[in-house]
Amino acid sequence: AYSLGRTIPDYDARRSAWLATHPEFPARVHPAGRPRVLLVTGSAPYRCPDPDGDHLLLRAFKNKADYCRVHGIEVFYNTAFLDHEMSGFWAKLPLLRSLMMAHPEVEFIWWMDSDAVFTDMAFELPWDRYAAHNLVVHGWEAKMYEEKSWVGINTGSFLLRNCQWSLDLLHAIAPMGARGPVRDMHGELFAKELSGRPPFEADDQSALIYLLVTQRDKWGAKVFFENSYELNGFWELIVDRYEEMRRKGQWPLVTHFVGCKPCRRYADSYPADRCRLGMERAFNFADDQILKLYGFGHESLNGTAVQRVGNDTGGPLDAEDEELRQLLHPTFRAA
Ligand code: UDP
Ligand code: MN
Repeated sequence: AYSLGRTIPDYDARRSAWLATHPEFPARVHPAGRPRVLLVTGSAPYRCPDPDGDHLLLRAFKNKADYCRVHGIEVFYNTAFLDHEMSGFWAKLPLLRSLMMAHPEVEFIWWMDSDAVFTDMAFELPWDRYAAHNLVVHGWEAKMYEEKSWVGINTGSFLLRNCQWSLDLLHAIAPMGARGPVRDMHGELFAKELSGRPPFEADDQSALIYLLVTQRDKWGAKVFFENSYELNGFWELIVDRYEEMRRKGQWPLVTHFVGCKPCRRYADSYPADRCRLGMERAFNFADDQILKLYGFGHESLNGTAVQRVGNDTGGPLDAEDEELRQLLHPTFRAA
């Protein structure tokens, strides 16, 4: 049967030993001993068939670069299939495994889909809350364990601790995604066992849910269900409301364009125009939080035109607003 690679039984000890001999690369960083985080994302090795697709990917990556610069997070962008069997959305599994082992200094890997957009540039994750957990996903415990809903959690944006448990988890999920008949067979199994899941080839989100539901005793204790903020926010309920949310002063951390598939000519479930305008608005909404630091902003979230919004003083920018100051010269502390 397919395997992601050799099993590594003593990973935690080996990682600890590496950290002990490399004090110059600590797994906790300034300020306040926050875990060192690597944001991992990526897209296919080839260009998008949709003429607009690669530009949308560029803007989605620019958005991640902005968030990560402000929060002191490194980024890895992958465009390779590291393992022939792990194509498509399964590509993240061998990638995460390799990155963990190559970067023992990284405490958490933050996977983020290419079509997930940061829409709150100032929001720092509450890292302390996750101290006892290895996997942090957006979702609801009951919706997953009781309803066995295939959208009980979403794997578009999640945190995975660099440890034995996580390697074991990837190792346990990967065999369900081996390309071809195995992947098809598991797709049918998930459609039968999980509620609301259409019968298509096995995907990593369904595989994770299936594993957690069937082996809760083994994995459950280390999984944190986050729903107190939008670690993963569903775009359809968000994109029309940015102006309103801006007035009210509260907006989602992430807007994820689930089902939009910008690289597949919007072949999925939603009208192309609605997806496209939603993305435009999400990018501009996020970009405005960055541009504001430099005295600029979009005239409208629906278009590309930008205007000056602050005074050109000729002196060093010293934002009067505490939130802006944080973004310009960040010293974030986890909530
Ligand atoms: N992905 C990748 N390489 C691929 C296909 C997908 O790196 O060839 C990544 C990409 O970041 C994407 C995520 O895997 O957002 C999830 O894949 P999916 O096919 O579900 O795409 P989405 O629905 O997010 O567009
Ligand atoms: Mn996605």
